Amino acid sequence: MKLIRQVSALREALDEARLGQRTTGLVPTMGAFHEGHLSLMRRARSECDVVVVSLFVNPKQFDEPSDLEAYQRDEHRDAALARTAGVDFLFAPPVSELYPEGFATLVSVTGPGERLEGANRGPGHFAGVATIVVKLFNIVAPDVAYFGQKDAQQVAVVRRVVRDLDLPVRVAVSPTVRAADGLALSSRNVRLSIADRARATALYRALRAAEQAITAGERDPATVVAAAREQLATSGIEPEYLELVNPKTFAPARRLEGDVLAVVAASISGTRLIDNQLIRVSAGPEQSRSPARQRTTQRPVPIGAATMLAGPS
Ligand code: AMP
Repeated sequence: MKLIRQVSALREALDEARLGQRTTGLVPTMGAFHEGHLSLMRRARSECDVVVVSLFVNPKQFDEPSDLEAYQRDEHRDAALARTAGVDFLFAPPVSELYPEGFATLVSVTGPGERLEGANRGPGHFAGVATIVVKLFNIVAPDVAYFGQKDAQQVAVVRRVVRDLDLPVRVAVSPTVRAADGLALSSRNVRLSIADRARATALYRALRAAEQAITAGERDPATVVAAAREQLATSGIEPEYLELVNPKTFAPARRLEGDVLAVVAASISGTRLIDNQLIRVSAGPEQSRSPARQRTTQRPVPIGAATMLAGPS
């Protein structure tokens, strides 16, 4: 594995590595690797000839300077993990390489970037994400870019940018990797105390409660959300948001049909966590004929089974 810090050096190395029309996979990251990141790298390794991982804590997507400051950084450890995952190039540039003096361009995304994370983390968040992703796509020119379902709204934003700007890249989305107790892996989890780490599993339980309510036949979004909220309340957690949304537009799901995404964000003793679960709402063969029998005609969908359905990968 080669560690590269300059755009020009990466382009040169890739020109050489790709000779003979080899495919390139890119995994954009901010480091502090865990199994979630490694699952994306391993998938890229198994699907592409050349694998590039970018490691860049992107200041433009942090509206909160203290959040940027607190971001965990350990390049040495990350490089060792990337090597074991079979990565060819680790691109870890300094901020000045990607945002030189006078940098003045931002890719702004309305639509799927406006609500929830866009509103709660600040208007600069998804513009920062979109800007760095477009830059990385231009620098690496990947055939496939790999993202995690864990950041579902980021996926929706990236898909929209790729479509709107006709970027020649396929977006592949991998399922959320979870701890045994269901907590989605996140670089922020290490900031949780033992007690808060236990409380944090309520986010997963809330998503499961939403899924279970829907698979049991509930079709009123407010009732489903109330069932999910109850799980958070028992752990004393007040969510920043807890909603059912359309997985592509992130607009509130007013009717439960097709695929809906349950999304949650909450701060636990100052550590902000997000999670989501894609839920396939089965119409049930008899639902249209007999609403009264709706509850008995739903087939349960195990959690995670629909994770890959957010869009074509
Ligand atoms: P980050 O370093 O947090 O920007 O994440 C880099 C990539 O890893 C993003 O595409 C994330 O969605 C993905 N990722 C983060 N956590 C997980 C997880 N628990 N499971 C799967 N992918 C993840």
